[in-house]
This record gives sequence, structure tokens and C-alpha cells, in this order.
Amino acid sequence: MKALVKTKEGSSFEYKDVPVPEPKDDEVLLKVDAISVCGSDISLYMWNEVARVIATVPFIPGHECAGTVVKCGPKAEIAVGTKVGVENHYFCGSCYQCKNDCREICKNMGQFGHGKKTEHGACSEYTIVSAKYLYQLTRNLNADQTAMLEPLGVAHNAVERLDVAGEDALIIGCGPVGLLAGMVAKAEGAKRLIGADIDPYRLELAKKVGFDVTVNTKEKDLKEDLVVNPRFVKAGLSRHDLYQGVLGLFHFYFWWYGKWVEVIIDDLLPTDGMQLIYARNRSDPDEFWPALLEKAYAKLRGNYEALDGGKLQDAIVDMTGSISEYIDLKDKSKIPNNLYDLVWKSYQMNSLMGASIHVPYRGNNIQLLRLRNPWGRSEWKGDWSDHHPASKIELIDAPLYKIQEGPIALVECALIFFNKESG
Ligand SMILES: [Zn+2]
Ligand SMILES: [Zn+2]
Repeated sequence: MKALVKTKEGSSFEYKDVPVPEPKDDEVLLKVDAISVCGSDISLYMWNEVARVIATVPFIPGHECAGTVVKCGPKAEIAVGTKVGVENHYFCGSCYQCKNDCREICKNMGQFGHGKKTEHGACSEYTIVSAKYLYQLTRNLNADQTAMLEPLGVAHNAVERLDVAGEDALIIGCGPVGLLAGMVAKAEGAKRLIGADIDPYRLELAKKVGFDVTVNTKEKDLKEDLVVNPRFVKAGLSRHDLYQGVLGLFHFYFWWYGKWVEVIIDDLLPTDGMQLIYARNRSDPDEFWPALLEKAYAKLRGNYEALDGGKLQDAIVDMTGSISEYIDLKDKSKIPNNLYDLVWKSYQMNSLMGASIHVPYRGNNIQLLRLRNPWGRSEWKGDWSDHHPASKIELIDAPLYKIQEGPIALVECALIFFNKESG
């Protein structure tokens, strides 16, 4: 029979005569009815870096295939004449992934048409596949359609992770898998299907297969073309209406060893029983901004544990790219006499300062800057401590030096009245 064969590393396929193989055990001899050419087949021909990872010579290429059973091995239970599609991922069926319905990422994966656990492939008149990797067609698909089941599976696997019903769906890149993903999204109820590409031919195809809008991003700004006034959350939704898996990706920028570093995270946050595990707004437990920031910071530092024991002044630098000043209140002799002026000046310059607490004062919410070491050995329980009654609010009108004379500075805790009028 005629076959394309990859006999050696390097950019070549050989078109040659090879013997028709014999099916053994549960193997089946298929007459190949149709194949489609995958992007990876081109890599396999060129033998580029990708190919060297996914394939092992020698092999017959071709993994997107439709065929007809013509001969069965002794243990293959499938009728001669059956029209089939081929599962190209040769999963083992017994590893953790396989047992958890993730056969496409099997730990011991072989790959039809790649020389992985089989030298057979579909670029030949006949090929050999184990019966367990065959799909019998229950619908009336022709051979061309059947050969497309493999890339369709790729697209479907991506789209089924989202709930696109009733939503606008944007497909960036209208290659074969992009177009198939669009068709899957439409079949799953996507409202408006938008395709973006830089190739007019691909955009024409997108229109033909049912995309509602196509945008050539070489010519138009995608954002401007889709929405006049782009916003983060669509009208009528608050951020609390969004649930995990929907929001998408977040970009953060940190000042990291002298330059801005972009960190991209998804919105899957560490939770336990629908509760955020780490950073959490106590009065508003579903608020997720601090948790997202924390996740991005953890990614930058390597992991969540690496955030442990960080210092506020370091965090301020990492978030703002500016310099920070740190005054240790433990050592009373080192507290500058002009501490109040320093803080006041920082305030006027809109500098970012440490944690603040709010207290009601003369009918307003007043922001207080808490100068305090939260990891200190002893917690201040006196005036202006966490549970200090608001009735003693007048105390804070006292200038700072008076506070310093009291016990507050001594126990690493001082409060500065933080209000313009009383400045
Ligand atoms: Zn493929
Ligand atoms: Zn497996």
C-alpha cells in the first residue's frame, strides 16, 4: 500500500510502498476513508522544536481520520464494515487522570500518527488501531466530517468549560479550531458570535459558518468596534453577582527589583466551603479584590507561603514603585520629634500610608492612621485600641507629643489624628 512515512529526523516525509499491516489482539485494520491535516502535521514534516517533543521516529503521520473496519484481530469486537472515527490519544485507562475522566491528559499517553506507542498513522491506504480507540458513528456523518471530529473535540473541550448560553462570544483567531469553537459556542446557545482575525480569508470563512460579526484587527480596534464604552462588568451586575470561572483574567503590575513586572492571574481563588481562605474582607466576605491582589502577589513571590511575614513598607514599594519610609516606634529614642509633621506632609502629598481605621467623630467618619506593629508581642488594650469606645474620641485632639508621653508609644501603638481641620 502507499503511505507517507517519517523515517528520519529532519524535514521530510517519504511517499512509498509499505506492506499492508496485520491486526493483532484487539487491533483492527482500517481502510482510511478521509484525513484532515492538522497544524501539528506541518510541524512533524518540518521536524521543528514542537515535533521533537510530540513525536518519535519512525512513524506514519496523520491522526485526524475516518475509516472503515476491514479486518479484525482475534480479540477485537467490532463488525467488519463499521464506519469509525479514531481516538488519536492512546490513553492508558489506569492512571489518575484516566480514572478521573481526563483521558486527554493521560500520564502514559501514546499518540496515533506521532510514533508514540504506535508507528501507524492515517496517511496511508490502511492503518491499524486498537478497537478501544475507535468511535462507531451513531449519526450519518460522511468521511470528511468524521475526520474533523478530532479538532472538533479540541474546540468543544475548550468551550464546554464556559457557560456561553445567552452570552456574546468572542473568538480571537479564526483558524480551524477557532471556527469550530465558534460553531460549538453557537450550538450551545451563544447569542452573538464575534470573530477576530487578521486574515480576510479566515474572516470570510467565519461568516460562512455562522459568525454574526467579524473584525479584522489589522484594520480596526477590537474594543472600539465591539463596544462604544467598554466597562469591566456589564450593566445591572454587581461584582458580587459574578461567580468563579466567569470573570476571566486579571493583570497586576508590581514594582519588582527596579522594574514593573506584569502578573496575570485567573479568578480561581483558594476557597473552602465557598469561603475565601486567605485575604478576606470581614464585613463583606464575598469581596474579592484583596484576594485577587493577594493571588497575584503570591504568584510573583512563588507561592502563598512566601507572603508570610512580609513587611508593610515592602508591600507599599512593590505596589507603587516609589520609596517607603519606616519609623520604628519600639525604640522611643528613635522616634523623630517631627513625626507628626512627617505624617502630615505625607498626607498632603497623597502618599500611601499603612493600615487605617475609621472612627465616627463629630458626625463624620474620620480616618486614623494606626502606627502600630501588628506582630508586636503585646497588644495595646487601652485608649484607641481595637475596642476603644467612641466616647473617648476627644483624646485624639491632643497633639502627638502628648500621646507619646503616655503608654501608647511604649507599647508600639500610637494614633495620630488625621484630619485636615485640626491639622
Ligand atoms: Zn490534530
Ligand atoms: Zn492514563
